[in-house]
Amino acid sequence: MILEELTAFSNLYGSNEDLVLAGGGNTSAKDGNLMYIKASGTQLATITADGFVAMDRAKLAETLTKEYPADDDAREAMVLADLNNARMPDQGSKRPSVETVLHSLFEQRFVLHLHPSVVNGVTCSQQGRAAAEMLIKHPFIWVDACKPGYVLSKICADELARFKVENGCPCDLVFLANHGVFFASDTVEGLGKLLEEVLASIRAAIVREPDFSTGAFDGEKAEKCFAAIRKLYGEDCVITYEPSVEALRFAETPESAAILMKPFSPDHLVYCKQFQAYGFCDGCLPGAVKRCLEEHGYMPKIIIISGCGFFAVDETAKGSQTAADLFNDAIKVAVYAESFGGAKPMSDALSDFIANWEVESYRSKKHEGEE
Ligand SMILES: [Zn+2]
Repeated sequence: MILEELTAFSNLYGSNEDLVLAGGGNTSAKDGNLMYIKASGTQLATITADGFVAMDRAKLAETLTKEYPADDDAREAMVLADLNNARMPDQGSKRPSVETVLHSLFEQRFVLHLHPSVVNGVTCSQQGRAAAEMLIKHPFIWVDACKPGYVLSKICADELARFKVENGCPCDLVFLANHGVFFASDTVEGLGKLLEEVLASIRAAIVREPDFSTGAFDGEKAEKCFAAIRKLYGEDCVITYEPSVEALRFAETPESAAILMKPFSPDHLVYCKQFQAYGFCDGCLPGAVKRCLEEHGYMPKIIIISGCGFFAVDETAKGSQTAADLFNDAIKVAVYAESFGGAKPMSDALSDFIANWEVESYRSKKHEGEE
């Protein structure tokens, strides 16, 4: 019964593109000491009861009192091992979400975690916390940008405990800067109500909507860019071209494109890579791509060209389209954040951590993880 409810609301919210893109977001349900959570490599839109991993909550709670090494790599490897050991028997090779401990911290039966662009317009903005405090009437916890997984769980454990003491009831709404939002409720209806309330409160304060209609792009220049990209990435590469009004506006000058050169959230980093390339013309496109390769060790997935918009490049059609979808999401976030003091990318230190994170590299390889 509880698995049916979990599957149903996962499919419902997972198939709404305003709420979930690619493998983003995750859901869970509790039954006493047992918790079901979306497994890595599954998508909310299509998940079935079999796509959830059954977890032992007592074992998950133990990870919060355990001493782990300070070194990121050593700690994350041990945490991942403990996470896998907290699975109930007979879970096969299913891997629990990296935010499993955080899901378990909520006392409520159901948890819905999403990265909606409307919400991230606030969480990835300069005035994020102040804007949320002004707009959201429902009591919530705000968590500043931090390393996902174990570090985030530790911070949330303290914050949730503090909230309960101060408010006399468990918290059911947590905003994560440069990441997304957690909703918790004992009922599926309760989750839906809270989600709608938050989305409506933020939407009411957004002063400008992004324009994704096709803009006045330079067709001849775009053709030359296609040729230049094929020459650099190989004839078999798949290019998704986005000449929207909004993409063209950001692509106009290095100054207007600057805000899009670094990722706002782990999603953008995982699917579009950490750094993008910018060029004025087809002639300087190869130089921009090579600079990224020399400085960061990889060819960019996103190439922004003045007068053209942006190009998303990958070996596969799915990878190319997903990168384009996520970069359009970054554009949405940047536009929404204009209403809250302007967008704020993740710090380089946080981006470096996520880029090097084993769990995340697993996710991008599969093009469909979680978190
Ligand atoms: Zn997340």
